[in-house]
Amino acid sequence: MKHRSEWSPFANCKGYQNPEDFHTKGRDASIAKLVCKHCPVRIDCLEYAVVHKERGIWGGLTERERRKLPSMVVEVLVIQYREGGYLEERPELDSHPVESKPLSL
Ligand code: SF4
Repeated sequence: MKHRSEWSPFANCKGYQNPEDFHTKGRDASIAKLVCKHCPVRIDCLEYAVVHKERGIWGGLTERERRKLPSMVVEVLVIQYREGGYLEERPELDSHPVESKPLSL
């Protein structure tokens, strides 16, 4: 788990003219997934996308695929991001479903 600024310089998609366009919904998923497949920061990217509810392809998975990840995994990631100070201040995250739900192990 790292700040996005620490791992994004090493991303395979960095060479795209506008890296943000790489993730956008509607892009050919097979091309994006191919680029992600051997990305050295894939796990960091995937964690970031899950926690921040990003859209499109991140970490080699579509939004739909990321939604299939076990909710416990997502909860743990969100808590770790929040406690580590890695959670970005973004309005759409204010209503994150795990915000008020304590983790019970
Ligand atoms: S895993 Fe894919 S979307 Fe994420 S940084 Fe790497 S190339 Fe970009």
